[in-house]
Amino acid sequence: MDNLSAMADVIGPANLLLSADDIAPYAVDWRGSYRGTPEAVLRPGTTAEVSELVKRCAAEGLAIVPAGGRTGLSGGAVPQANGPRSVVLSLERLNRIRDIDPRDFSLVAEAGCVVQNVQQAAADVGRLFPIQWGAQGTAQIGGMLSTNAGGIRTLRWGNARELVLGLEVVLPDGRVLDDLRRVRKDNSGYALRHLFIGGEGTLGIITAAALRLQPALKRVETAFVAVPSPDAALSLFSRMMESGADVIAFELCQRFCMEMAAKHGVGLRMPLPLESPWFVMLEIAAAHESVPLRAIMEDTLGAAMEAGEVTDAAIAESDAQRLGIWKIREDYPECSRKDGPAIGTDTSVPVSAVPEFLRTIEREMKDRWPEGRMSAIGHAGDGNIHVSLHAPPGMDRPTWVSRAAEMEPLVNAVAVSLGGSFSAEHGIGQSKRHAMATHKNPLAMELMRTLKNALDPDGRMNPGKVLP
Ligand SMILES: Cc1cc2nc3c(=O)[nH]c(=O)nc-3n(C[C@H](O)[C@H](O)[C@H](O)COP(=O)(O)OP(=O)(O)OC[C@H]3O[C@@H](n4cnc5c(N)ncnc54)[C@H](O)[C@@H]3O)c2cc1C
Repeated sequence: MDNLSAMADVIGPANLLLSADDIAPYAVDWRGSYRGTPEAVLRPGTTAEVSELVKRCAAEGLAIVPAGGRTGLSGGAVPQANGPRSVVLSLERLNRIRDIDPRDFSLVAEAGCVVQNVQQAAADVGRLFPIQWGAQGTAQIGGMLSTNAGGIRTLRWGNARELVLGLEVVLPDGRVLDDLRRVRKDNSGYALRHLFIGGEGTLGIITAAALRLQPALKRVETAFVAVPSPDAALSLFSRMMESGADVIAFELCQRFCMEMAAKHGVGLRMPLPLESPWFVMLEIAAAHESVPLRAIMEDTLGAAMEAGEVTDAAIAESDAQRLGIWKIREDYPECSRKDGPAIGTDTSVPVSAVPEFLRTIEREMKDRWPEGRMSAIGHAGDGNIHVSLHAPPGMDRPTWVSRAAEMEPLVNAVAVSLGGSFSAEHGIGQSKRHAMATHKNPLAMELMRTLKNALDPDGRMNPGKVLP
């Protein structure tokens, strides 16, 4: 038996995938843009098994690519093509909720727990795990933390990083860092957990996390609103933030995006005719029944209409209508994918700069790629707008990618020039390493390399990701 096959001693033969057919789903990313050739897929069921596998991989000189739900959009969970010998280490079997304490407003989940299951576990004890995005039914806690995921509620509760109290991590040499405490206050030196959050598996393997919960939402109001421009949307955003309600989501969508959703979506119903150039999906909430949330929504939208910031609005009348609005948003990436090839971006700018960002990008796109079709959709409440340039109908992906190769660098440069980021929420993975080389502060890069060398001197943890 060779040393790779002997890993079955640790996890059992059923959890050591060696055949090409079994490995295939782990060898390609969600978008189908990145493919690798892992020698095996390892599926440990406990932290001790992860630790033992990491030690054995070190002895074998095998690189490790951690994988969660494999919904990442930067090619992080797939081995690099032509990279070093590697295995994929899937956390899917570490899927227990170890503890939940509503009095502490905390929950301890293993890395392989699906995000939606953690949301449900919190709801079952009258608490809220607030992060929310389209892939939450598949993405896992370990992947969520390793990419520092954002989503539609970042403006209210922050990115994944802000929801973490403590972590358990298997280091590149196999030792287990148990920092799984649930205390809110701990100033005993460096907050090491923040190295692994957003680390995309390059510094260690997250095996469990103590997560922060919130009180359950007792009232929620959701609206689908037509606005004449991003400037009008920004004014509406300020008005809502000042309304006395908690604004928990504020998404800006160009009409073209809604047209793609209407065309390719299954079971989607547009709440308004698609006659406006821009739409906003917004949600306000309160943790107590006595807050007059409906009146706040109606009054605020009414005042915005009088000011010309809103031209039409549909407020959800039922839970089904509310979920229908969010289904449009959540299904949008899939609808866009069905519409044909597009080059996407993941930029953020200060909220106040969103209109200028969009004006500049639209002008540049029209000048340089008049045949392309621009789309913009995103979490305007936190300044994270995803701009894409879609191929003209009928054009294949390679042709479009080569013709509009400068599109992504252009959008990144505009965002950075406005004080923003070229990587807002999807991470760096393989797809944005070139942008790191261009835009990341050189001293920050030097410090990142120092940390990487200190923790993973042999470069075996997810090689070819994050660092250019
Ligand atoms: C339809 C759709 C919508 C999306 N919308 C959003 C959105 O609104 N906001 C957003 O932020 N993202 C979004 N994403 C991206 C993606 O869902 C997130 O990045 C998510 O956090 C990835 O989780 P995952 O479990 O699928 O991770 P994976 O894709 O499996 O892995 C992502 C990265 O984390 C590493 N990793 C995974 N698990 C571990 C672990 N336990 N320890 C160490 N490293 C690990 C991997 O090596 C890889 O580098 C969307 C994706 C899709 C498909």
